[in-house]
Formats: sequence, C-alpha cells, structure tokens
Amino acid sequence: MKQSPRDKKLEEVLRSTQLVAGGFMGSDSRHPIEIIEQDIIALEDLGMTTTRLAERMTELTELATPRLGNWIDCAFGKLRVKSEDYKGKLVCPWSHPGHFDKRITTVEHLETGQQVSWTDLNIHMIAVHGFFEGKDAFFRIEPSEIVSILFEQER
Ligand SMILES: [Zn+2]
Repeated sequence: MKQSPRDKKLEEVLRSTQLVAGGFMGSDSRHPIEIIEQDIIALEDLGMTTTRLAERMTELTELATPRLGNWIDCAFGKLRVKSEDYKGKLVCPWSHPGHFDKRITTVEHLETGQQVSWTDLNIHMIAVHGFFEGKDAFFRIEPSEIVSILFEQER
C-alpha cells in the first residue's frame, strides 16, 4: 500500500510510545487505516455501528463514575461495571485538542465472566476515528467481544 505523507505520520504517532506506554499498535504490522477498515467491517457484520457502540460505552462509564472503584450492577443484573481513575491525562493521537482523563471502565458479563476495559480515549477513538487499536496493544478492543458483552443481553 502506498502511503500518503499524512498516513505515514499517523502510523508513526500510533506506533510511538510517547503518548501511551507500548503505543497504540501493539505487535500489529497492518497500517492503522487497514485496522480501522477491517474493524468497521467486523462491526457491520454484527449489525453494530461505532456511534451506537460508543454511546453504550459512554453510558456505562457515566453510570460507574459517581461510585468510582465500586462494581455497579446494570443491564437487569446481566452486567456489572466499575470505573477507576488514574493520575494523568491522555491525548488523542490524531492531535485533537483537549485531554482525556485517565479513567478505566471495566464491564463484566456476569454469566460468562467475560470482561472488557476501556479508557475515555478509547471511546473517543472509536466514535470519531473508528480505531480499536492494534492487536496486542494494551487497550485493544476486539469488536466481536465488546459487542457480545455489551449488547448480547438485548438479543
Ligand atoms: Zn481524535
């Protein structure tokens, strides 16, 4: 794939470890644009959109934030959610202005024990950039996993 200078710069920023420990790409050798395209297709196959997914993630983070550090049952007792605050701020690698609190939200599906975690920056990157991070990146979110945890109870 021939890269435009802009795409090349994006890849460099996402692979660098300056913004987050380990970078956003993990061991993934694909270009970020390819990762985004493939994850969007995976979401579409599940009948899901980045907008709807990001809204659900925001809802759960907002539900958990007032009781920081405590599990809260939700989704009629199918899920529980917890948010934890860490010192520091995260910035968008696409260099959007502003900072994201280093808050980590974890959701557990009580029947299956499956868990998924995200930061506020993950929500932004999914909503605005369609980016779920590279394979093995610390906060890589697998589209099929998060959809099955957050939405399965609705089916
Ligand atoms: Zn951004």
